[in-house]
Amino acid sequence: MRTKTIAGNWKMFKNLQQSEELILGLTKALDFSLGSVKVIICPPFTSLGLAGTLVKGSPIALGAQNMHAEDEGAFTGEISPTMLKSVGCEYVILGHSERRQYFQETNESINKKAKKAIASGLIPIICVGETLEEREKNITDLIVSTQVRGCLKEIGAADVEKTIIAYEPIWAIGTGKTATPQQAEEVHLLIRKLVGQLYSWASAEKVVIQYGGSVKPENAKELLSQPNIDGALVGGACLKADSFATIVKSATLS
Ligand code: PEP
Repeated sequence: MRTKTIAGNWKMFKNLQQSEELILGLTKALDFSLGSVKVIICPPFTSLGLAGTLVKGSPIALGAQNMHAEDEGAFTGEISPTMLKSVGCEYVILGHSERRQYFQETNESINKKAKKAIASGLIPIICVGETLEEREKNITDLIVSTQVRGCLKEIGAADVEKTIIAYEPIWAIGTGKTATPQQAEEVHLLIRKLVGQLYSWASAEKVVIQYGGSVKPENAKELLSQPNIDGALVGGACLKADSFATIVKSATLS
């Protein structure tokens, strides 16, 4: 039985005061039984320290949006996994399409970070997904499989079972266009089967695969009801406490 996992990627939004307001709003809005649903928020680096204090003792877990693959060193502007751990992070988003697009991240560099995250006791949320052009060329399967293989390289079965994979079709991120539940389910099943081939079916059944791409309160329930969609990575809709809480609620009902 996989844990339904809803993560909010705040991207480069919310200063310190706005972060405090959102977290306090969220702790209030999550006033229903979460059952076994896991809730994660990923604020920007500048808010992680405060967020770590605010979510302590609450059902909300903390994640970061990126990290460097070394513990320390002369890497101006970078943040290490040990720094993330020290402020209470348990998760880290790796290889988001915006990082692949604007910061030249590759399957290889994401894999390096994923291995380091795991070694540091962080759970990576590894993002994969095709562009619109790739979907139209009918190479979604090839693109996503190559990303999954590359990002999971040399990660052992026990660790892969704890890793989260987020399928985020790039054409659906921040565009208001959502993959239909059937389109998303198809790719999720492909990812699970690939993990099964690379490891074992027992491992594949344990891997949480989130869907991301314009998830909103209106479409969350149907997406989350698909057999291989184990949660959501939410961008825009996580910036308001009520809409994020409604998505979390959908997860408790699906
Ligand atoms: C994201 O940034 O991971 C994302 C899915 O964004 P949005 O929900 O806004 O499409």
